[in-house]
Amino acid sequence: MSGNQRLLLVEDDDSIARSLTGPLESAGFRVEHVSTGAEAVSARGADVVLLDLGLPDMDGYDVCRAIRAHSDVPIIVVTARSDEFDRVLGLELGADDYMVKPLGTRELIARIRAVLRRTGGRPTGVDGDDRLTVGPLSIDRRTHRIHLDGEEVPFTPKEFELLVFLAEDAGAVRTRTDIVEHVWDANWFGPTKTVDAHVASIRRKLGSHSWIESVRGVGFRLVEPSGS
Ligand code: CA
Repeated sequence: MSGNQRLLLVEDDDSIARSLTGPLESAGFRVEHVSTGAEAVSARGADVVLLDLGLPDMDGYDVCRAIRAHSDVPIIVVTARSDEFDRVLGLELGADDYMVKPLGTRELIARIRAVLRRTGGRPTGVDGDDRLTVGPLSIDRRTHRIHLDGEEVPFTPKEFELLVFLAEDAGAVRTRTDIVEHVWDANWFGPTKTVDAHVASIRRKLGSHSWIESVRGVGFRLVEPSGS
């Protein structure tokens, strides 16, 4: 088991978080602690998530669902409630395991390792090579799927390639020439209006013109719309 696995600890009770962090770090995990659901949902790059369901700002189930909408990261839900309904619901939401407080650190670490072993074959780490994330936009190059705010958006193959090309260097301007060469091919002499048509279609599908800025005479850049 690698000593560099990143564990996102979502726990609003600081004393519990402190009591878990030491043993988890001793077990070789890099622990990032957040205490709200909003922080948990926006966090990226974890190899495993330990999610307390009783959070101050969001229902833990919604947090679980929101993480699962953009990531296959293994999630272990933790709750003070032990009834079967919670357990079933937690697993239906895409959690990989379930533990009831109080947590014994030895059992906890064993369960985390078991979950990581079980899920080792699937991609984890939402910012791994296969996935590009720009704000609420998530692009999975392995599965060719695009999600916006957790909702899948259907794209044609060329739209997909164009969006990936822009997202690989979000914020930077891609020239029309670069776009044509990368998304179509270097010997493509079709009308440049084709690029514009694809840009327009992507904007429409993403629900906002401002996702792709036109830079007059140069090209386009992908930016997260403010307030999106
Ligand atoms: Ca709590």
